[in-house]
Amino acid sequence: MSDAQSTLITGIGELVSNDGQPDDGQSNDGQPNDGQHNAFAAMTDAALVIAEGKVAWTGPAARAPAADSVVDAAGRAVLPGFADSHAHLVFAGERSAEFAARMAGRPYRTGGILGTVEATRAASDAVLRANLRRLVAEMLRQGTTTFECKSGYGLTVPDEARGLALAAEVTPEVTYLGAHVVPPEFAADPAGYVDLVCGPMLDACAPSARWVDVFCEDGAFGADEAAAVLAAGQAAGLDARVHANQLGPGPGVRVAAAAGAASADHCTFLTDGDVDALASTPVVATLLPGVEFSCRQPFPQARRLLDAGATVALATDCNPGSSFTSSMPFCIALAVREMGMTTEEAVWAATAGGARALRRTDIGHLGVGARADLILLDAPSHTYLAYRPGVPQIAAVWQAGAPASRRSPPSGRRAAWSRA
Ligand SMILES: [Zn+2]
Repeated sequence: MSDAQSTLITGIGELVSNDGQPDDGQSNDGQPNDGQHNAFAAMTDAALVIAEGKVAWTGPAARAPAADSVVDAAGRAVLPGFADSHAHLVFAGERSAEFAARMAGRPYRTGGILGTVEATRAASDAVLRANLRRLVAEMLRQGTTTFECKSGYGLTVPDEARGLALAAEVTPEVTYLGAHVVPPEFAADPAGYVDLVCGPMLDACAPSARWVDVFCEDGAFGADEAAAVLAAGQAAGLDARVHANQLGPGPGVRVAAAAGAASADHCTFLTDGDVDALASTPVVATLLPGVEFSCRQPFPQARRLLDAGATVALATDCNPGSSFTSSMPFCIALAVREMGMTTEEAVWAATAGGARALRRTDIGHLGVGARADLILLDAPSHTYLAYRPGVPQIAAVWQAGAPASRRSPPSGRRAAWSRA
């Protein structure tokens, strides 16, 4: 019933549309958007109409058409919902002691990914599902309207298949990461584990997944093994993405480029050749600054990638070990403060960049025809996401045009920073 209704959001202080028409004062009625524009774009004193779950009109508030219901943004900013293209959400247990030891500079010998694998294997479906859904709700409250979710803490055929089936309950962006690490039972036979990942485990997992991923790193999987995992996944109809160049220089980015992967994720240690590969191919460089924050490592060189012409996305890498944040606003603040990205670049990377990393053209922008996934920010501009780090500023979230999360109902009251 409500699907047939239209909603006008007016009084928007800044409408971040990413639709390639920066504040030209023109409305975009009737101009479908392909989501392929490369740059941040916004207009002030704007309005937006939602109809049938999509953006139906954007333009100056003074020229807004009538709609069935009206929301007064009272000078607040509206942005596309965040697209978090890298997250590990199906797991049990937690690793706060490991984090505390790392921050204190103390050695910590047990745990790591294999600690989470042990806890995950031992957990019931109900425990895994409850943990997953709690994290998904947490993401939504922080403005994430699309997220990717990986397996990788099961590492047996039934445990990986279970993780992916659970992920598929909450997102279409499901990633098979059987090649996360070699589990202890295969420590003496890593090649045998790669055969399992490329064979029976893939057969059991492919029906639930859209993507195949591999942790290509010293101590995980080498270039040939990673290429084999991606090729097997692609032969089963999955598209490729890669954990690349996180802990040191290595072949990950080159493997991603050779496989035609959608994204190379981490990109913390890059050679000039790696930067060239990312700039000259459609492979998105997905940066995960929550990891460097939580591991006290040097941040990725976003400026170097952007200046070379690479497409950069930001994502959380939400996982219980190296980055237990689900907050895209936090990642935006880190990218601006620590990685030299402008506020516009960081917001684009967290919205349109994430969409690009997921090969989605229907999200990450608010052009006419886009899915109406959007955030009402309790602030007058996108800059506040980095300017007020750590402050909850997501006032409301719409997913496919439906109100999905609301901190407090936007009232008609004018905020202190309102121009009106
Ligand atoms: Zn990851």
